[in-house]
Amino acid sequence: MNSLNKDSLNLAANKKSVTILGSTGSIGSNTLDLISRNRDAYDIKALTANKNVIKLAQQAKEFNVDMAVIADSTLYSELKLALSGTNIIVGAGLEGLIEAADMPAQWVMSSIVGAAGLGPTLTAIRRGATIALANKECLVCAGEFMMKQIKKHGATIIPVDSEHNAIFQIFDFNHPETVDKITLTASGGPFWNNDSIDMTSITPNQAVKHPNWSMGAKISVDSATLMNKGLELIEAYYLFPVNKNQLDIIIHPQSIIHSMVSYIDGSVLAQLGMPDMRTPISYALAWPNRMSTPSKKLDLLEIGTLDFIKPDRKKFPALNIARDALHYGESAPTILNASNEVAVRAFLDGKIGFQEIIKLVEKTLDKINFCKMSCLKDVYEVDENARRVSNEFIKGIKK
Ligand code: NDP
Repeated sequence: MNSLNKDSLNLAANKKSVTILGSTGSIGSNTLDLISRNRDAYDIKALTANKNVIKLAQQAKEFNVDMAVIADSTLYSELKLALSGTNIIVGAGLEGLIEAADMPAQWVMSSIVGAAGLGPTLTAIRRGATIALANKECLVCAGEFMMKQIKKHGATIIPVDSEHNAIFQIFDFNHPETVDKITLTASGGPFWNNDSIDMTSITPNQAVKHPNWSMGAKISVDSATLMNKGLELIEAYYLFPVNKNQLDIIIHPQSIIHSMVSYIDGSVLAQLGMPDMRTPISYALAWPNRMSTPSKKLDLLEIGTLDFIKPDRKKFPALNIARDALHYGESAPTILNASNEVAVRAFLDGKIGFQEIIKLVEKTLDKINFCKMSCLKDVYEVDENARRVSNEFIKGIKK
């Protein structure tokens, strides 16, 4: 055997096997962008999408994956046709997503949007994989359950959300008692300092135009209402060993400091970088090492000023509503998440106005009694009921 073959065999053996749940979205595509620059280091087992057959088929062929799954099962034949002549296994529906998550990949990017990602993410957790967690909604709706499963099955979780990834990099996990508080930074979205805008007439196009980050529609709307920061507060509570009162939020419009950890001796550690999701994704992909990325390097002299502002909780009630849900516990975060998903969808579909989003979440939380959830079935029941109640409210809203 010549040395070239030996080397290539070694490379194959050292490849990290990867699955991307939600590969056609913003996080999924950024993950593939990084992998495309380091092809020899990764072997892709499975990719999944909801409806975007064309993009999924193109990705599956380009990366020569083992399996491609479309969640919308009515599109199965279309995907099958698009992948005919290849050896790629084609799957569809929730069953297909679970199969994809069960493929023997060491590393799984959880980047489906919404609670729809919960089942597949849990499947990957149960086989002890390393989970790069972008999907914050599954942690918000089933945080306690998910964290117990991670412990039970020896899975590893690496937060991808830029704030939580920042905290993961600077938190002293060996001495959590030395942490005074965690401060999540928020860009504030497109409207936090726009006093001239009429909040009642905001369109979906305006709401998804984030000033710093390029993201999918749902998280962009969440950033505009600041519910994204509320969800992140709950996400941080489950991910890091702190209590509910040790979590703070400040507006930092430049999105350069991604979050901070304050210690009892007065030291504050922060992680900084340009607002490019490829940095936190790369951290999760290469962990415990680091890899180079094409992200623009931070030049503080070019940035000049970093601003910090107290969030206006009156203008953005989502922050208090999410904090209250975290404090109530039980099923409150699950209801909050489900209702918010329904409300954001309705806003994007032109059924309700921007300001109705958070009102709807509040009304749904007021209407449903909170309960203890002891298993996954409870989580799904609470989630379904909250969606039903929110949809009823939407029917009553006249636009
Ligand atoms: P996108 O909307 O861009 O992508 C979502 C992905 O999930 C797509 O592949 C989509 O498929 C798939 N999908 C959507 N609905 C379903 C469903 N019901 N079942 C299965 N698959 C589905 O979202 P983002 O990439 O922006 O966000 C993904 C997650 O990461 C979210 O939870 C978000 O909060 C989180 N996140 C995102 C950040 C970002 O910068 N984008 C930053 C931090 C966190 P299809 O393309 O076919 O619709």
